[in-house]
Amino acid sequence: MKKLALNFIFLLIFPYLGAQTIINRDQEISRMIDEISGEKIEQYVRKMVSFHTRHNLSSRTDPAQGIGAAWNWIRSEMEKSIAASEGRLEVKFEEYTAGGPGQRIPRPVVLKNVVATLRGTDSNDDRIILISAHLDSRAQLDSDSTSYAPGANDDGSGIAAILEMVRIMSTRKFPTTIVFMAVSGEEHGLYGARHMAAKAKNENWNIIAMLNNDMIGNSGSSETLLNDNMRVRVFSEGVPAYETEQMAALRRYTSGENDGKARQLARYIKEVGERYVDQLNVTLVFRNDRFGRGGDHSPFCAEGFTAVRICEFNENYDRTHKIPAVVNGIQEGDLPEYVDYEYVRKNTGINLATVANLALAPGEPENCGIVVSGLTNKTTLRWEVPSKGQKPAGYYILIRETYQPLWEKKIFVTGTEVTLPYSKDNYFFGIQSVDASGHESLAVFPGQARRQVSQR
Ligand SMILES: [Zn+2]
Repeated sequence: MKKLALNFIFLLIFPYLGAQTIINRDQEISRMIDEISGEKIEQYVRKMVSFHTRHNLSSRTDPAQGIGAAWNWIRSEMEKSIAASEGRLEVKFEEYTAGGPGQRIPRPVVLKNVVATLRGTDSNDDRIILISAHLDSRAQLDSDSTSYAPGANDDGSGIAAILEMVRIMSTRKFPTTIVFMAVSGEEHGLYGARHMAAKAKNENWNIIAMLNNDMIGNSGSSETLLNDNMRVRVFSEGVPAYETEQMAALRRYTSGENDGKARQLARYIKEVGERYVDQLNVTLVFRNDRFGRGGDHSPFCAEGFTAVRICEFNENYDRTHKIPAVVNGIQEGDLPEYVDYEYVRKNTGINLATVANLALAPGEPENCGIVVSGLTNKTTLRWEVPSKGQKPAGYYILIRETYQPLWEKKIFVTGTEVTLPYSKDNYFFGIQSVDASGHESLAVFPGQARRQVSQR
């Protein structure tokens, strides 16, 4: 067994637990997070605001204003990192036609997404991690393509996070491919993300995780006047939007309704994000999105991919989708002076930590099963070595009581089978691959062990 290299040991005392949690940080990931610049984030947001409106029917040809100027600028900003990537970074427009009679975009229009692909260094590894934000903005009315719609927070903040990650991550090498997307069409029905999700499905992209960042820079609430830049939400679907009858049967059999792939990704973001970013609590919201509002992760969920939304904890409804004006003494509008740039910096950090840790990790263990034959107070788990990526140094067995939302225990094992003195009836289990430096894959929730399945 290869010994786990503990690059950096950080002892954190959680007073409410009365116990210590040991946090092992990869120094290189910490260095990347240290490079995230709040100043640069503010510059990116102010540049996005300078386009006046990024409405999906605004000008595509004006060099200074409108959605076309915005996607051209995002592309050129991303292209600055090609040299540092030694040619691994490729930046492209992805064009599609949206709208038509009876739709929220009432006439067909050609829109562009900006897609930057940082090719993985392992040619045998086809895994892709997707990170996304939307470049369009809007005012109150669907049809209002000319009013000032700064969209500083919605979603200038998400675009700024993506640009910072492209800048920093392109200077590093990852075996896994990372795709950074700035999509259009969101405000009128997620057109840009739908186009990408359909393309990914058709072309069989092996997406292991999709992180949608939409509004990550507002730290104060309207009405209730809460103010908190120490909490961010991760929304994840429970029962998957995409579920075959066979998947549903297995979910019922294993009581896996809280253990779909999006949930595992959400737990991963909490664990890894909080491992690397100080003064930020990742709050898991166990629903796909907010009431009455959607996001660009949803088309990916619908196509069967593992996708979540990252979003500020407190929203300000005086700002979102409002034309800037002082109304009853309150400044309305999504203006750059109301974005909390330190909060965006930290939220960029949890994204970067998650993507980097996952991109450096071995693939998930495959055919993970729990042996259910025989009456025993122990639990036997079996799995197979991942076929993608480097071979793991070992595996983490995750354990929690069935009523708990988060994993409670993490046991390192080698080999591909383990028997533990915990009753399978009383706990939930997960299995992760891990390399010698502690980069872990997403957790896999085991189904019935394959030998039992094949005997049926
Ligand atoms: Zn948005």
